[in-house]
Amino acid sequence: MAKLTQDSMSIPPEVLAGYEPVIGLEVHAQLKTDTKAFCACSARFGDPPNTNTCPVCLGLPGALPALNRRAVELGIRAALALHLNVQETSRFARKNYFYPDLPKGYQISMYELPLAKGGWLEIEHDGQTKRIGITRLHLEDDAAKNLHEGFPDSAEKSYVDYNRGGTPLAEIVSEPDLRSPTEAHAYLTALKQVLLYTEVSDCNMEEGSLRCDANVSVRRRGAEMFGTKAEVKNLNSFRYLQHALEFEIERQIAVLESGGKITQETRLWNVAAGRTEPMRSKEFAHDYRYFPEPDLLPLRVSAAWRDEIAATMPELPEAKRKRFVRDFGITPYDAEVLASTRALSDYFEGVVRAGAPAKPAANWIQVELLRQLNDAGKEIPESPVPPAELAALVAKVERGEINASTGKKVFARMFETGKPAAEIIAAEGFSQVSDAGEIERWCREVIEKNPDNAAKYRAGNEGVFKFFVGQVMRASLGQANPQTVNDTLKRLLS
Ligand code: ADP
Ligand code: ZN
Ligand code: MG
Repeated sequence: MAKLTQDSMSIPPEVLAGYEPVIGLEVHAQLKTDTKAFCACSARFGDPPNTNTCPVCLGLPGALPALNRRAVELGIRAALALHLNVQETSRFARKNYFYPDLPKGYQISMYELPLAKGGWLEIEHDGQTKRIGITRLHLEDDAAKNLHEGFPDSAEKSYVDYNRGGTPLAEIVSEPDLRSPTEAHAYLTALKQVLLYTEVSDCNMEEGSLRCDANVSVRRRGAEMFGTKAEVKNLNSFRYLQHALEFEIERQIAVLESGGKITQETRLWNVAAGRTEPMRSKEFAHDYRYFPEPDLLPLRVSAAWRDEIAATMPELPEAKRKRFVRDFGITPYDAEVLASTRALSDYFEGVVRAGAPAKPAANWIQVELLRQLNDAGKEIPESPVPPAELAALVAKVERGEINASTGKKVFARMFETGKPAAEIIAAEGFSQVSDAGEIERWCREVIEKNPDNAAKYRAGNEGVFKFFVGQVMRASLGQANPQTVNDTLKRLLS
Protein backbone atom coordinates (compact mmCIF):
# COMPACT_ATOMS: atom_id res chain seq x y z
CA MET A 1 0.00 0.00 0.00
CA ALA A 2 1.14 3.50 -0.83
CA LYS A 3 2.43 5.41 2.13
CA LEU A 4 -0.04 8.02 3.19
CA THR A 5 1.51 11.10 4.61
CA GLN A 6 -0.06 13.68 6.80
CA ASP A 7 -0.19 16.19 4.00
CA SER A 8 -1.79 14.05 1.34
CA MET A 9 -4.82 12.97 3.22
CA SER A 10 -6.72 11.67 0.24
CA ILE A 11 -7.79 8.53 2.04
CA PRO A 12 -10.19 6.41 -0.03
CA PRO A 13 -13.67 6.38 1.48
CA GLU A 14 -13.67 2.59 1.87
CA VAL A 15 -10.53 2.86 4.01
CA LEU A 16 -12.08 5.61 6.14
CA ALA A 17 -15.20 3.51 6.53
CA GLY A 18 -13.11 0.72 8.04
CA TYR A 19 -12.45 2.84 11.12
CA GLU A 20 -14.67 4.11 13.91
CA PRO A 21 -13.92 7.41 15.64
CA VAL A 22 -14.22 7.58 19.42
CA ILE A 23 -14.65 11.01 20.96
CA GLY A 24 -14.98 12.42 24.45
CA LEU A 25 -15.38 16.13 25.19
CA GLU A 26 -14.14 18.22 28.08
CA VAL A 27 -16.18 21.41 28.28
CA HIS A 28 -15.41 24.43 30.43
CA ALA A 29 -18.32 26.70 31.19
CA GLN A 30 -17.85 29.98 32.97
CA LEU A 31 -20.36 30.20 35.79
CA LYS A 32 -22.62 33.22 35.79
CA THR A 33 -21.64 34.73 39.11
CA ASP A 34 -21.18 38.40 39.95
CA THR A 35 -17.89 37.78 41.69
CA LYS A 36 -14.93 35.45 41.30
CA ALA A 37 -14.64 31.92 42.70
CA PHE A 38 -12.53 32.71 45.77
CA CYS A 39 -12.55 36.49 46.20
CA ALA A 40 -14.99 39.41 45.95
CA CYS A 41 -13.59 40.83 42.69
CA SER A 42 -16.07 41.39 39.88
CA ALA A 43 -16.24 38.57 37.33
CA ARG A 44 -17.62 40.83 34.59
CA PHE A 45 -16.30 40.40 31.07
CA GLY A 46 -14.88 43.33 29.13
CA ASP A 47 -13.80 45.69 31.93
CA PRO A 48 -10.52 47.60 31.40
CA PRO A 49 -7.56 45.20 31.88
CA ASN A 50 -6.41 44.48 35.41
CA THR A 51 -9.09 46.54 37.14
CA ASN A 52 -10.75 43.55 38.83
CA THR A 53 -7.96 42.11 40.93
CA CYS A 54 -7.04 41.69 44.57
CA PRO A 55 -4.37 39.89 46.59
CA VAL A 56 -6.33 36.61 46.43
CA CYS A 57 -6.71 36.36 42.66
CA LEU A 58 -3.24 37.80 42.10
CA GLY A 59 -1.80 35.06 44.26
CA LEU A 60 -0.04 37.38 46.68
CA PRO A 61 1.56 35.64 49.66
CA GLY A 62 -0.67 35.22 52.65
CA ALA A 63 -3.95 35.87 50.87
CA LEU A 64 -6.62 33.29 51.60
CA PRO A 65 -9.44 32.06 49.33
CA ALA A 66 -13.09 32.12 50.43
CA LEU A 67 -15.46 29.98 48.37
CA ASN A 68 -18.25 31.70 46.43
CA ARG A 69 -21.50 30.00 47.43
CA ARG A 70 -23.27 31.04 44.24
CA ALA A 71 -20.60 29.30 42.13
CA VAL A 72 -21.29 26.07 43.99
CA GLU A 73 -25.03 26.54 43.53
CA LEU A 74 -24.61 26.99 39.79
CA GLY A 75 -22.38 23.92 39.63
CA ILE A 76 -25.11 21.94 41.41
CA ARG A 77 -27.76 23.26 39.01
CA ALA A 78 -25.70 22.08 36.04
CA ALA A 79 -25.06 18.74 37.73
CA LEU A 80 -28.76 18.15 38.42
CA ALA A 81 -29.70 19.08 34.87
CA LEU A 82 -27.18 16.54 33.58
CA HIS A 83 -28.49 13.78 35.86
CA LEU A 84 -25.23 13.65 37.80
CA ASN A 85 -25.00 12.50 41.40
CA VAL A 86 -24.07 15.50 43.50
CA GLN A 87 -21.54 14.29 46.06
CA GLU A 88 -22.11 15.01 49.71
CA THR A 89 -18.42 15.64 50.10
CA SER A 90 -16.14 17.01 47.46
CA ARG A 91 -12.78 18.64 47.80
CA PHE A 92 -10.73 21.28 46.08
CA ALA A 93 -7.21 20.37 45.00
CA ARG A 94 -4.20 22.28 43.79
CA LYS A 95 -3.15 21.58 40.24
CA ASN A 96 0.39 22.88 40.06
CA TYR A 97 1.96 24.32 36.97
CA PHE A 98 3.82 27.46 36.05
CA TYR A 99 2.58 29.99 33.55
CA PRO A 100 2.38 33.82 33.52
CA ASP A 101 -1.42 33.69 33.48
CA LEU A 102 -1.42 31.70 36.71
CA PRO A 103 0.08 33.92 39.41
CA LYS A 104 -0.61 31.50 42.28
CA GLY A 105 1.50 28.86 40.53
CA TYR A 106 -1.45 26.47 40.79
CA GLN A 107 -5.05 26.27 39.73
CA ILE A 108 -7.65 25.49 42.37
CA SER A 109 -9.58 22.60 40.86
CA MET A 110 -11.10 19.33 42.06
CA TYR A 111 -9.38 16.06 41.51
CA GLU A 112 -10.24 12.80 43.22
CA LEU A 113 -13.42 14.15 44.82
CA PRO A 114 -15.36 16.11 42.19
CA LEU A 115 -18.62 17.93 42.89
CA ALA A 116 -20.71 15.44 40.90
CA LYS A 117 -20.34 12.12 39.06
CA GLY A 118 -22.11 9.69 36.75
CA GLY A 119 -24.72 11.45 34.62
CA TRP A 120 -25.91 11.67 31.05
CA LEU A 121 -27.25 13.93 28.37
CA GLU A 122 -29.55 13.01 25.51
CA ILE A 123 -28.63 14.17 22.04
CA GLU A 124 -30.71 14.23 18.88
CA HIS A 125 -28.72 12.93 15.96
CA ASP A 126 -29.82 11.57 12.58
CA GLY A 127 -33.41 11.56 13.77
CA GLN A 128 -32.48 9.39 16.73
CA THR A 129 -32.04 9.99 20.42
CA LYS A 130 -28.79 8.85 21.98
CA ARG A 131 -27.68 9.01 25.58
CA ILE A 132 -24.13 10.28 26.15
CA GLY A 133 -22.53 9.47 29.48
CA ILE A 134 -21.10 12.27 31.58
CA THR A 135 -18.25 11.19 33.80
CA ARG A 136 -17.98 14.12 36.15
CA LEU A 137 -18.46 17.80 36.81
CA HIS A 138 -16.04 19.71 38.94
CA LEU A 139 -15.44 23.31 39.91
CA GLU A 140 -12.24 25.24 39.32
CA ASP A 141 -10.93 28.75 38.89
CA ASP A 142 -9.92 30.14 35.53
CA ALA A 143 -6.48 31.38 34.54
CA ALA A 144 -5.89 34.98 33.46
CA LYS A 145 -5.73 35.92 29.80
CA ASN A 146 -2.49 36.24 27.85
CA LEU A 147 -2.44 38.68 24.96
CA HIS A 148 0.41 38.56 22.47
CA GLU A 149 1.02 41.60 20.34
CA GLY A 150 1.82 40.74 16.76
CA PHE A 151 1.14 37.06 17.37
CA PRO A 152 1.69 34.74 15.54
CA ASP A 153 4.03 36.55 13.13
CA SER A 154 6.17 38.11 15.80
CA ALA A 155 5.95 38.02 19.54
CA GLU A 156 7.09 41.49 20.37
CA LYS A 157 5.23 42.02 23.57
CA SER A 158 3.00 39.92 25.75
CA TYR A 159 0.44 41.19 28.21
CA VAL A 160 -1.57 39.51 30.91
CA ASP A 161 -5.08 40.61 31.86
CA TYR A 162 -5.76 39.27 35.35
CA ASN A 163 -9.44 40.19 35.28
CA ARG A 164 -10.35 36.68 34.17
CA GLY A 165 -7.99 35.06 36.67
CA GLY A 166 -9.97 33.40 39.43
CA THR A 167 -13.38 33.47 37.74
CA PRO A 168 -15.37 30.29 38.39
CA LEU A 169 -15.65 27.46 35.88
CA ALA A 170 -17.44 24.14 35.75
CA GLU A 171 -15.57 21.47 33.85
CA ILE A 172 -17.86 18.84 32.39
CA VAL A 173 -16.20 15.65 31.16
CA SER A 174 -18.06 13.26 28.89
CA GLU A 175 -17.56 9.54 28.52
CA PRO A 176 -15.95 8.46 25.22
CA ASP A 177 -19.45 7.78 23.85
CA LEU A 178 -19.44 10.02 20.79
CA ARG A 179 -18.83 8.34 17.44
CA SER A 180 -18.60 11.12 14.87
CA PRO A 181 -17.86 14.84 14.57
CA THR A 182 -21.56 15.50 14.02
CA GLU A 183 -22.44 13.65 17.23
CA ALA A 184 -19.87 15.77 19.05
CA HIS A 185 -21.52 18.84 17.56
CA ALA A 186 -24.94 17.63 18.69
CA TYR A 187 -23.61 16.97 22.20
CA LEU A 188 -22.12 20.44 22.54
CA THR A 189 -25.37 21.92 21.20
CA ALA A 190 -27.45 20.01 23.75
CA LEU A 191 -25.05 20.85 26.57
CA LYS A 192 -25.09 24.53 25.71
CA GLN A 193 -28.91 24.47 25.69
CA VAL A 194 -29.00 22.95 29.16
CA LEU A 195 -26.50 25.46 30.55
CA LEU A 196 -28.50 28.33 29.07
CA TYR A 197 -31.87 26.97 30.23
CA THR A 198 -30.58 26.58 33.77
CA GLU A 199 -28.87 30.00 33.63
CA VAL A 200 -25.63 28.44 34.77
CA SER A 201 -23.53 30.12 32.10
CA ASP A 202 -24.10 32.56 29.29
CA CYS A 203 -22.16 30.21 27.01
CA ASN A 204 -20.73 32.95 24.88
CA MET A 205 -18.07 31.19 22.85
CA GLU A 206 -16.56 34.41 21.47
CA GLU A 207 -16.04 35.72 24.98
CA GLY A 208 -14.66 32.36 26.05
CA SER A 209 -17.38 31.54 28.54
CA LEU A 210 -17.85 28.15 26.84
CA ARG A 211 -14.71 26.29 25.76
CA CYS A 212 -14.25 22.83 24.44
CA ASP A 213 -11.35 20.37 24.24
CA ALA A 214 -11.88 17.19 22.26
CA ASN A 215 -10.31 13.81 22.92
CA VAL A 216 -10.32 11.62 19.86
CA SER A 217 -9.06 8.24 18.79
CA VAL A 218 -9.92 5.77 16.04
CA ARG A 219 -10.25 2.00 16.08
CA ARG A 220 -10.99 -0.61 13.43
CA ARG A 221 -14.71 -1.16 13.16
CA GLY A 222 -15.70 -4.06 15.34
CA ALA A 223 -12.65 -3.72 17.61
CA GLU A 224 -13.30 -3.71 21.35
CA MET A 225 -10.30 -1.76 22.52
CA PHE A 226 -10.07 1.99 22.13
CA GLY A 227 -7.15 3.40 20.21
CA THR A 228 -4.63 5.87 21.62
CA LYS A 229 -6.19 9.30 21.87
CA ALA A 230 -5.05 12.80 21.10
CA GLU A 231 -6.50 15.82 22.86
CA VAL A 232 -7.28 18.79 20.64
CA LYS A 233 -7.42 22.21 22.30
CA ASN A 234 -8.56 25.65 21.22
CA LEU A 235 -11.94 24.68 19.81
CA ASN A 236 -13.77 27.89 20.50
CA SER A 237 -16.57 27.50 18.00
CA PHE A 238 -18.92 24.76 16.87
CA ARG A 239 -17.43 24.93 13.41
CA TYR A 240 -13.87 24.52 14.67
CA LEU A 241 -14.91 21.56 16.78
CA GLN A 242 -16.33 19.76 13.79
CA HIS A 243 -13.53 20.68 11.39
CA ALA A 244 -10.79 19.83 13.87
CA LEU A 245 -12.35 16.43 14.56
CA GLU A 246 -12.74 15.66 10.87
CA PHE A 247 -9.13 16.56 10.27
CA GLU A 248 -7.82 14.69 13.30
CA ILE A 249 -9.74 11.51 12.51
CA GLU A 250 -8.30 11.41 8.99
CA ARG A 251 -4.83 12.20 10.26
CA GLN A 252 -4.93 9.32 12.71
CA ILE A 253 -6.26 6.91 10.09
CA ALA A 254 -3.50 7.98 7.72
CA VAL A 255 -0.87 7.32 10.39
CA LEU A 256 -2.29 3.87 11.14
CA GLU A 257 -2.69 2.97 7.47
CA SER A 258 0.96 3.77 6.87
CA GLY A 259 1.93 1.39 9.64
CA GLY A 260 2.59 4.12 12.19
CA LYS A 261 1.45 4.52 15.78
CA ILE A 262 -0.59 7.31 17.34
CA THR A 263 1.28 9.15 20.05
CA GLN A 264 -0.74 10.30 23.00
CA GLU A 265 -0.35 14.05 22.86
CA THR A 266 -2.04 17.41 23.14
CA ARG A 267 -2.67 19.10 19.81
CA LEU A 268 -3.82 22.55 18.87
CA TRP A 269 -6.37 23.44 16.19
CA ASN A 270 -4.65 25.86 13.83
CA VAL A 271 -7.57 27.85 12.46
CA ALA A 272 -5.64 29.53 9.65
CA ALA A 273 -3.98 26.34 8.40
CA GLY A 274 -7.09 24.21 8.95
CA ARG A 275 -5.18 21.42 10.72
CA THR A 276 -4.31 20.14 14.15
CA GLU A 277 -0.69 20.51 15.20
CA PRO A 278 1.31 18.98 18.03
CA MET A 279 1.42 21.29 21.04
CA ARG A 280 3.02 19.20 23.74
CA SER A 281 3.37 15.60 24.68
CA LYS A 282 0.51 14.39 26.84
CA GLU A 283 0.76 15.52 30.42
CA PHE A 284 -0.26 13.08 33.11
CA ALA A 285 -1.98 13.71 36.41
CA HIS A 286 1.28 13.15 38.29
CA ASP A 287 2.87 16.01 36.32
CA TYR A 288 0.59 18.38 38.20
CA ARG A 289 1.48 17.23 41.72
CA TYR A 290 -2.17 17.39 42.75
CA PHE A 291 -2.81 17.68 46.48
CA PRO A 292 -5.81 18.73 48.55
CA GLU A 293 -6.14 22.51 48.84
CA PRO A 294 -5.08 23.25 52.41
CA ASP A 295 -6.68 26.71 52.49
CA LEU A 296 -10.22 25.44 51.87
CA LEU A 297 -12.38 23.05 53.84
CA PRO A 298 -13.91 20.05 52.10
CA LEU A 299 -17.11 21.10 50.38
CA ARG A 300 -20.27 19.65 51.91
CA VAL A 301 -23.54 19.66 50.02
CA SER A 302 -26.40 18.54 52.23
CA ALA A 303 -29.35 16.69 50.73
CA ALA A 304 -31.51 19.57 51.91
CA TRP A 305 -29.48 22.16 50.01
CA ARG A 306 -29.40 19.97 46.91
CA ASP A 307 -33.19 19.49 47.05
CA GLU A 308 -33.74 23.19 47.58
CA ILE A 309 -31.81 23.87 44.38
CA ALA A 310 -33.60 21.04 42.56
CA ALA A 311 -36.92 22.70 43.40
CA THR A 312 -35.89 25.80 41.46
CA MET A 313 -34.93 23.98 38.26
CA PRO A 314 -36.79 24.95 35.10
CA GLU A 315 -38.24 22.45 32.68
CA LEU A 316 -35.27 21.22 30.64
CA PRO A 317 -35.05 21.18 26.82
CA GLU A 318 -35.42 17.41 26.61
CA ALA A 319 -38.62 17.38 28.68
CA LYS A 320 -39.96 20.36 26.82
CA ARG A 321 -39.42 18.77 23.40
CA LYS A 322 -41.27 15.67 24.51
CA ARG A 323 -44.12 17.68 25.97
CA PHE A 324 -44.47 19.78 22.82
CA VAL A 325 -44.78 16.66 20.67
CA ARG A 326 -47.20 15.01 23.08
CA ASP A 327 -49.44 17.96 23.98
CA PHE A 328 -49.35 20.04 20.81
CA GLY A 329 -49.04 17.31 18.19
CA ILE A 330 -46.16 19.05 16.42
CA THR A 331 -43.33 17.08 14.81
CA PRO A 332 -40.16 16.20 16.77
CA TYR A 333 -38.25 18.43 14.38
CA ASP A 334 -40.51 21.40 15.09
CA ALA A 335 -40.28 20.67 18.80
CA GLU A 336 -36.49 20.67 18.60
CA VAL A 337 -36.42 24.08 16.93
CA LEU A 338 -39.05 25.61 19.21
CA ALA A 339 -37.47 24.27 22.40
CA SER A 340 -33.97 25.35 21.40
CA THR A 341 -34.10 28.36 23.70
CA ARG A 342 -36.32 29.28 26.60
CA ALA A 343 -37.25 32.55 24.95
CA LEU A 344 -38.42 30.84 21.77
CA SER A 345 -40.35 28.13 23.60
CA ASP A 346 -42.02 30.72 25.83
CA TYR A 347 -42.99 32.67 22.74
CA PHE A 348 -44.49 29.60 21.10
CA GLU A 349 -46.45 28.70 24.20
CA GLY A 350 -47.60 32.30 24.45
CA VAL A 351 -49.03 32.14 20.92
CA VAL A 352 -50.84 28.89 21.68
CA ARG A 353 -52.12 30.19 25.01
CA ALA A 354 -53.53 33.23 23.20
CA GLY A 355 -55.70 30.90 21.18
CA ALA A 356 -53.79 29.93 18.03
CA PRO A 357 -53.82 26.26 17.05
CA ALA A 358 -50.37 24.77 17.74
CA LYS A 359 -49.39 23.49 14.30
CA PRO A 360 -49.97 26.68 12.34
CA ALA A 361 -48.45 28.64 15.25
CA ALA A 362 -45.32 26.48 15.00
CA ASN A 363 -45.14 27.13 11.26
CA TRP A 364 -45.66 30.86 11.47
CA ILE A 365 -42.97 31.17 14.12
CA GLN A 366 -40.43 29.07 12.30
CA VAL A 367 -41.00 30.44 8.83
CA GLU A 368 -42.10 34.05 9.18
CA LEU A 369 -41.04 35.21 12.62
CA LEU A 370 -37.59 33.61 12.69
CA ARG A 371 -36.83 34.84 9.20
CA GLN A 372 -37.83 38.42 9.97
CA LEU A 373 -35.90 38.37 13.24
CA ASN A 374 -32.88 36.98 11.48
CA ASP A 375 -33.04 39.60 8.73
CA ALA A 376 -33.40 42.34 11.32
CA GLY A 377 -30.59 40.94 13.48
CA LYS A 378 -32.96 40.71 16.44
CA GLU A 379 -33.57 38.16 19.17
CA ILE A 380 -36.93 36.81 20.30
CA PRO A 381 -37.31 39.16 23.28
CA GLU A 382 -36.97 42.09 20.88
CA SER A 383 -39.68 40.86 18.54
CA PRO A 384 -41.93 43.78 17.55
CA VAL A 385 -44.80 41.28 17.29
CA PRO A 386 -45.84 39.97 20.71
CA PRO A 387 -47.20 36.39 20.96
CA ALA A 388 -50.83 37.48 21.39
CA GLU A 389 -50.68 39.56 18.19
CA LEU A 390 -49.23 36.71 16.19
CA ALA A 391 -52.00 34.50 17.61
CA ALA A 392 -54.60 37.00 16.40
CA LEU A 393 -53.13 36.93 12.90
CA VAL A 394 -52.92 33.14 12.80
CA ALA A 395 -56.57 32.97 13.90
CA LYS A 396 -57.64 35.25 11.04
CA VAL A 397 -55.87 33.07 8.50
CA GLU A 398 -57.25 29.89 10.05
CA ARG A 399 -60.80 31.31 9.93
CA GLY A 400 -60.30 32.28 6.28
CA GLU A 401 -60.74 36.00 6.90
CA ILE A 402 -57.55 36.52 4.96
CA ASN A 403 -55.60 33.99 2.95
CA ALA A 404 -52.12 32.80 3.82
CA SER A 405 -50.25 34.95 1.33
CA THR A 406 -52.08 38.07 2.53
CA GLY A 407 -51.34 36.93 6.05
CA LYS A 408 -47.63 36.96 5.28
CA LYS A 409 -47.84 40.50 3.93
CA VAL A 410 -49.78 41.58 7.01
CA PHE A 411 -47.20 39.90 9.22
CA ALA A 412 -44.37 41.77 7.50
CA ARG A 413 -46.19 45.05 8.18
CA MET A 414 -46.83 44.04 11.80
CA PHE A 415 -43.13 43.34 12.18
CA GLU A 416 -42.24 46.69 10.62
CA THR A 417 -44.71 48.83 12.53
CA GLY A 418 -45.47 46.89 15.72
CA LYS A 419 -49.19 47.41 15.03
CA PRO A 420 -51.84 44.70 15.52
CA ALA A 421 -53.08 42.68 12.54
CA ALA A 422 -56.63 44.06 12.65
CA GLU A 423 -55.40 47.64 12.44
CA ILE A 424 -53.16 46.90 9.47
CA ILE A 425 -55.84 44.98 7.62
CA ALA A 426 -58.38 47.76 8.13
CA ALA A 427 -55.97 50.55 7.21
CA GLU A 428 -54.29 48.94 4.25
CA GLY A 429 -57.16 47.12 2.55
CA PHE A 430 -55.71 43.67 3.10
CA SER A 431 -59.09 42.14 3.82
CA GLN A 432 -59.99 39.01 2.00
CA VAL A 433 -62.65 39.34 -0.65
CA SER A 434 -65.42 36.83 -0.05
CA ASP A 435 -68.01 38.66 -2.11
CA ALA A 436 -69.35 35.93 -4.42
CA GLY A 437 -70.32 38.38 -7.16
CA GLU A 438 -66.91 39.93 -7.39
CA ILE A 439 -65.16 36.56 -7.33
CA GLU A 440 -67.44 35.27 -10.07
CA ARG A 441 -66.52 38.26 -12.22
CA TRP A 442 -62.80 37.49 -11.87
CA CYS A 443 -63.43 33.83 -12.66
CA ARG A 444 -65.44 34.56 -15.81
CA GLU A 445 -62.78 36.96 -17.01
CA VAL A 446 -59.99 34.43 -16.59
CA ILE A 447 -61.97 31.66 -18.30
CA GLU A 448 -62.81 33.91 -21.24
CA LYS A 449 -59.16 34.86 -21.70
CA ASN A 450 -58.05 31.23 -21.68
CA PRO A 451 -60.41 29.24 -23.90
CA ASP A 452 -57.77 26.61 -24.75
CA ASN A 453 -57.17 25.72 -21.13
CA ALA A 454 -60.87 25.75 -20.41
CA ALA A 455 -61.35 23.23 -23.22
CA LYS A 456 -58.54 21.08 -21.85
CA TYR A 457 -60.12 21.03 -18.42
CA ARG A 458 -63.51 20.13 -19.84
CA ALA A 459 -61.84 17.33 -21.81
CA GLY A 460 -60.69 15.82 -18.53
CA ASN A 461 -57.30 17.42 -17.90
CA GLU A 462 -57.77 18.32 -14.25
CA GLY A 463 -54.20 19.52 -13.96
CA VAL A 464 -55.07 22.88 -15.53
CA PHE A 465 -57.46 23.66 -12.67
CA LYS A 466 -54.57 24.95 -10.60
CA PHE A 467 -53.71 27.31 -13.42
CA PHE A 468 -57.16 28.91 -13.21
CA VAL A 469 -57.00 29.23 -9.42
CA GLY A 470 -53.63 30.94 -9.75
CA GLN A 471 -54.90 33.37 -12.37
CA VAL A 472 -57.92 34.36 -10.31
CA MET A 473 -55.83 34.86 -7.19
CA ARG A 474 -53.57 37.08 -9.24
CA ALA A 475 -56.48 39.08 -10.63
CA SER A 476 -57.66 39.63 -7.06
CA LEU A 477 -54.18 40.64 -5.88
CA GLY A 478 -54.16 37.61 -3.62
CA GLN A 479 -57.24 38.70 -1.73
CA ALA A 480 -59.92 36.38 -3.05
CA ASN A 481 -61.16 33.74 -0.62
CA PRO A 482 -59.53 30.59 -2.02
CA GLN A 483 -62.44 28.30 -1.15
CA THR A 484 -64.95 30.51 -2.94
CA VAL A 485 -62.62 30.71 -5.95
CA ASN A 486 -62.40 26.93 -6.07
CA ASP A 487 -66.16 26.46 -5.85
CA THR A 488 -66.90 29.15 -8.41
CA LEU A 489 -64.37 27.88 -10.94
CA LYS A 490 -65.63 24.30 -10.62
CA ARG A 491 -69.17 25.51 -11.22
CA LEU A 492 -68.30 27.70 -14.21
CA LEU A 493 -65.99 25.16 -15.85
CA SER A 494 -68.24 22.13 -15.55
P1 ADP B 1 -6.82 11.55 30.81
O1 ADP B 1 -6.28 10.62 31.81
O2 ADP B 1 -5.98 11.71 29.62
O3 ADP B 1 -7.31 12.85 31.39
P2 ADP B 1 -9.48 10.55 30.89
O4 ADP B 1 -9.71 9.09 30.95
O5 ADP B 1 -9.64 11.35 32.13
O6 ADP B 1 -8.07 10.80 30.23
O7 ADP B 1 -10.46 11.14 29.79
C1 ADP B 1 -10.39 12.44 29.37
C2 ADP B 1 -11.38 12.59 28.22
O8 ADP B 1 -10.96 11.77 27.14
C3 ADP B 1 -12.78 12.14 28.53
O9 ADP B 1 -13.69 13.04 27.91
C4 ADP B 1 -12.89 10.77 27.93
O10 ADP B 1 -14.21 10.50 27.49
C5 ADP B 1 -11.98 10.89 26.74
N1 ADP B 1 -11.34 9.63 26.34
C6 ADP B 1 -10.78 8.70 27.15
N2 ADP B 1 -10.23 7.70 26.42
C7 ADP B 1 -10.46 7.99 25.11
C8 ADP B 1 -10.16 7.36 23.87
N3 ADP B 1 -9.45 6.22 23.79
N4 ADP B 1 -10.56 7.98 22.73
C9 ADP B 1 -11.21 9.14 22.77
N5 ADP B 1 -11.54 9.77 23.89
C10 ADP B 1 -11.17 9.22 25.06
ZN1 ZN C 1 -9.71 39.06 43.47
MG1 MG D 1 -8.55 13.15 33.06
